[in-house]
Amino acid sequence: TIEECRKILKEEIKTFPDWPEKGVNFKDVQSILFNPELALVTSHYLQELLPKKDSNSFLFNKILCFDARGFLFGFDLAKASNTPMILARKHGKLPGEVVTQTFEKEYGLDEIQVQAGLINPGDKVLIHDDLLATGGTAGAAAEIILKCGAEIAGFNFIMDLSFLPGRKVLQKYVHDSKIQAL
Ligand code: AMP
Repeated sequence: TIEECRKILKEEIKTFPDWPEKGVNFKDVQSILFNPELALVTSHYLQELLPKKDSNSFLFNKILCFDARGFLFGFDLAKASNTPMILARKHGKLPGEVVTQTFEKEYGLDEIQVQAGLINPGDKVLIHDDLLATGGTAGAAAEIILKCGAEIAGFNFIMDLSFLPGRKVLQKYVHDSKIQAL
């Protein structure tokens, strides 16, 4: 079950204290990928969390994933839901015209970009990343989706660092039940 998966992940995912800087407990997705059984379980239960209309249709028609760890399970979810996948990347990584959103990080500003034309009015876009911390990154993706005139279908994460305000930040965009993490 999802509860069991949560418990296994808590036990199995490797944490690096004070990395990349003091005070951050880094949750390393490498420890999921290195354990094929755990990777399968993670992938299966992330799919279970996808917002569904009924047993064979989803409440989103595109999925946006973050460079780089969001790509790993994001592609998996895109295949499982037969949905186009959109890459959100750091400044300067994407060719062609892009849509940009600046957001605040702990130290200074950061930027994410998506290729123009991929998100259109009428789209319902699901956002996936490996981990929800402050919500800055996922919030920036939400802003890009709104800028493109589309709707935010929900958020999907492997982990939620619940002592941080990420969930609160994202509640500005969707109902709490659409912010899902294992
Ligand atoms: P935030 O924008 O603060 O919600 O941070 C989310 C992004 O930063 C995700 O792409 C994560 O991969 C990464 N991140 C932030 N904090 C951690 C952490 N403690 N462990 C692993 N990744 C993290």
